[in-house]
Amino acid sequence: MTEQPVLRLTALTRIHDSGAAVVHALRGIDLDVFPGELVAVMGPSGSGKSTLLSLAGGLDQPTSGEVVVAGEHLARLSRTRLAAVRRRCIGYVAQGDDLSPTLTAAENIALPRTRDGVPDGEARREALATLAELDLSAVAGRFPDEMSGGQRQRVAIARGLVGHRRLVLADEPTGALDPETGESVMALLRVRCDAGAAAVIVTHEARYAGWADRVVFLRDGAMVGQTLSTSAEWLLSAEAHR
Ligand code: ADP
Ligand code: MG
Repeated sequence: MTEQPVLRLTALTRIHDSGAAVVHALRGIDLDVFPGELVAVMGPSGSGKSTLLSLAGGLDQPTSGEVVVAGEHLARLSRTRLAAVRRRCIGYVAQGDDLSPTLTAAENIALPRTRDGVPDGEARREALATLAELDLSAVAGRFPDEMSGGQRQRVAIARGLVGHRRLVLADEPTGALDPETGESVMALLRVRCDAGAAAVIVTHEARYAGWADRVVFLRDGAMVGQTLSTSAEWLLSAEAHR
């Protein structure tokens, strides 16, 4: 039996047409991400990295092409079913943090789980365990405005990881973090992938992409290269595609 990808993008395009301007944000992307794989996406600003991630996470719809997550064709799902797949299978970490200001760190993380029917007590235990993994137990009871930017960013990452989702999508998750904390976040993602999850991470930094199995380079909405991050040439490629 051949292994199925957790994420399959086929001939994916996304055109933004605002009347005055037409932007081809993605021009035919094909990408499979298998269980256990950590894929880094690099490319200049405006190359389509965030668009790729939001299509993969079902937050935006493609102009053409297909997104399949854990065997589900996202475009064929009802709104309710799509919402359920997003909650259960996909951990999406947005660029910048988007925590609810009226909930504590632990409540923010537990929310998608309780919405999915996990009992309150269990959701809270999971939230606390995930906070502990990210060395954030001290902020469990704090509200977002009582945390530093780096802490908020890590709590948002914890919310994407809780419940052992099969696909983790993170848009520059390390952007607001100091190098040491950034490395610890990448190490945690690596552990999750080694345990069978799949992850796609947008990053500008070669040092973080070094945790990935593969690095995909985007330019003007197209994939212009792909390399194994363990290969000798990969750092050179990362530089060349900046
Ligand atoms: P990146 O994350 O690599 O910086 P994005 O995916 O955010 O790039 O954007 C890709 C292109 O699509 C850019 O030219 C951007 O201006 C454009 N774009 C993104 N979202 C919209 C939108 N909602 N409306 C119009 N253009 C958009
Ligand atoms: Mg972006």
